[in-house]
Amino acid sequence: MNSKIWLSSPHMGGNELHYIREAIEMNWITAQGHCLDYFEKDLASFLNKKYFVAALNSGTAALHLALIELGVKAGDEVICQTMTFSASANPIAYCGATPVFIDSEKDTWNLCPIALEEAIQDRIAQGIKPKAIIAVHLYGMPYKVTEIHAVAKKYDIPVVEDAAEGLGSTYKGVNCGTFGDFGVLSFNGNKIITTSGGGALVCQTKAAKDKAVFLSTQARDDAPHYQHSQIGYNYRMSNIAAGIGRGQMEVLADRVQQRRANNSFYRQLFQDIAGVTVFVEPSADFFSNHWLSCITLDEKICGKTAEQLRLHLLEDQIESRPLWKPMHLQPVFEGSAYYGGQVAEDLFKTGLCLPSGSNLEEDELHRIATAIRSFFA
Ligand SMILES: *Cc1c(COP(=O)(O)O)cnc(C)c1O
Repeated sequence: MNSKIWLSSPHMGGNELHYIREAIEMNWITAQGHCLDYFEKDLASFLNKKYFVAALNSGTAALHLALIELGVKAGDEVICQTMTFSASANPIAYCGATPVFIDSEKDTWNLCPIALEEAIQDRIAQGIKPKAIIAVHLYGMPYKVTEIHAVAKKYDIPVVEDAAEGLGSTYKGVNCGTFGDFGVLSFNGNKIITTSGGGALVCQTKAAKDKAVFLSTQARDDAPHYQHSQIGYNYRMSNIAAGIGRGQMEVLADRVQQRRANNSFYRQLFQDIAGVTVFVEPSADFFSNHWLSCITLDEKICGKTAEQLRLHLLEDQIESRPLWKPMHLQPVFEGSAYYGGQVAEDLFKTGLCLPSGSNLEEDELHRIATAIRSFFA
């Protein structure tokens, strides 16, 4: 039987073990050490040296700390893109706040600026001004930064930029992760680079970074004993994980190139299959890392559904996956406020994520192409 082809699996660069060994030899094993310092510096120099990066143990933790730093409290409302992974929205609940979900637009599948403004106006009319906006670069595709930030600015609402899937993507030549009041990165095992598990908060000021580090290491006040005047969290990245991160940063540019090459491969493959559209950048302003390559199927034209294709690929041990199920359709967020139409719902019904790992081999790509061609033949 053929070996399994995964959607997106970890891809080591080669020097990770060297940095881990160094950390172990120096006995810096936990949440302190030079790998952390270097990894944070590597990230800042990749993004733009004027930002301050705090390495944390997950992207979810970074989102949570962003909301805390923005003062989100119980009873507040926070706006969030409905089409996303649940980790974008869960930290709203951690704060005791209430999510307000917004539909996607068709070009980038991300926050629709029109529905966003409608929502803000309606919430304000109801007497509750949203405390923050969580905007996501889904599958690595930058959201409409100019339009979204213009709305946020007009109503003076801070933006948490969920760039968990968007490291290496750019909008008008500027790195994703640097547009928001806070930027969030993830180094989970399936992301474009991994630290086994991890994340980072991109901050505009050193004070904001210091606060994130303080909160992520149990909020210990400056005293010889354990003194606390705030609720703390155990959210700091370990020095070992940061060692993996240092190795991964050396190959990030390659990883972006490899994932983008997968996208070209799919574009070519589907060129003459009517009714299938590969998800690509709407204009030259957008540069996606193509973390995952996705397609949508028009059943009326191609006569097949995304689910049929998924099952067909699975028969040949090829993993694919439906797009993110919108948050306003999730049982856990039932009854939440929602603004927009059917865009996210339709994408969920017709879309599929295809194998997109940067470590896909030539023969695996060939197997994928053969399975897809036989399905549509
Ligand atoms: C992966 C992901 C996160 C969470 O990151 P973790 O490191 O897994 O906690 C948040 N938002 C999006 C859109 C993600 O894909």
